[in-house]
Amino acid sequence: STPASPASAPPVSADEESGADKIRVVVRVRPLSQAEQQADASALCLKRLSPQSLKYGTDEENADSGMTFTFDQVFWSESQQQVCDKVGVSVVRNAWKGLNSSVFAYGQTGSGKTHTMTGQLDDLQGEGLIPRISRSLFSTDAAADEAITSFKVVATYYEIYNERVIDLLGETDAASPRAALRVREHPTRGPFVEGAVMREVGGWADLAQLLRRGNRARTVASTKMNAASSRSHAILQLSFVQTRIYGADDGGGEFGGGMRAVDRESKITLVDLAGSERADKTGVTGDRLVESGNINKSLLALGSVINALAESVTSTSTSSVFVPYRNSALTWLLRESLGGNARSVMVATLSPSALQREETGSTLRYAERAKRIKTHATVNEDPNVAIIRQLRAEIEALKAALREH
Ligand code: ADP
Ligand code: MG
Repeated sequence: STPASPASAPPVSADEESGADKIRVVVRVRPLSQAEQQADASALCLKRLSPQSLKYGTDEENADSGMTFTFDQVFWSESQQQVCDKVGVSVVRNAWKGLNSSVFAYGQTGSGKTHTMTGQLDDLQGEGLIPRISRSLFSTDAAADEAITSFKVVATYYEIYNERVIDLLGETDAASPRAALRVREHPTRGPFVEGAVMREVGGWADLAQLLRRGNRARTVASTKMNAASSRSHAILQLSFVQTRIYGADDGGGEFGGGMRAVDRESKITLVDLAGSERADKTGVTGDRLVESGNINKSLLALGSVINALAESVTSTSTSSVFVPYRNSALTWLLRESLGGNARSVMVATLSPSALQREETGSTLRYAERAKRIKTHATVNEDPNVAIIRQLRAEIEALKAALREH
């Protein structure tokens, strides 16, 4: 990895309409845990330099002597509200514009992924991005746009565990283990989980209830690193469909001859990834080790996709770089969030403790590479766009077929 220059580039604007956009990469450093404080209160491997940059100490010296990394944002002691202002607000704005967006949290177990994505569901101040984004999506203030006549929100919530996709909203009973669902490809809408329960939700309270149920169904296991460490990737997808009326009412037709109703669908994809630590660090054995291996396989695939996308940005012949989305269920399902039709934010979560120096360094390098990825968000409305996407998908399928021969 190349350490970034301390001179910070202006953050990517989230306010433009459709167009190429880099993935926004932010890091969030949590406070020292009690265990870390007890071990050695003074030893930190990170130091914030500015709201966009930090130092990472690579040796036994303190962080001052380390490498500088620059990101779109470096959160240090910011509140949940402040993080949402910088990360969540644009997600909601994009949704109203008809643009897909996604946020994914990456980092070792215990670094703050779930705190950032979900936080406390029973405490307003402690609420993470999912509750805040959802509340804001349903709030009528955001709909101060006269063209919109109605909207609905449909939720899917699933986890990827050992490369198996498990519906967290499906009916469960203790006698029958939950069946794995297949990932399939829709010609225009992209990858989706076949047979996943889609629940229309009328407000945040509805969705909170679904999440609580889904979270109880999540596969958790104890490891040395975190008593309730989640070994799975959890993916919440909100499909936000607005019906908009365009044109002047000239008195004819259903909405008047000059008027037409158009549906805009935008997807909000919110991902709490499994811990990024290596299996040998967690001290797991037996079955748990197999799990860790698979989680790493998925995150390894994510790393390969990020590398390929980063390479395709610098490569002169963009089309020649093959991006191995299909190597894992995770990367296949996140394809649009990573290199496709979405505005995306990666939140890399970090412990500042020198005890976690190695994992923190690996998360920073991962995040550093993700900065180069470009996506191309498009308003999901114009039928021509759908046709173009369909043709593109066909071209990709034909290319893939050619490669196999
Ligand atoms: P992960 O999901 O990455 O395994 P968690 O989100 O569960 O980690 O965080 C581990 C612990 O650290 C939790 O007790 C959480 O409340 C706390 N924590 C994480 N991030 C922060 C933060 N930014 N501020 C305060 N506490 C935090
Ligand atoms: Mg977690």
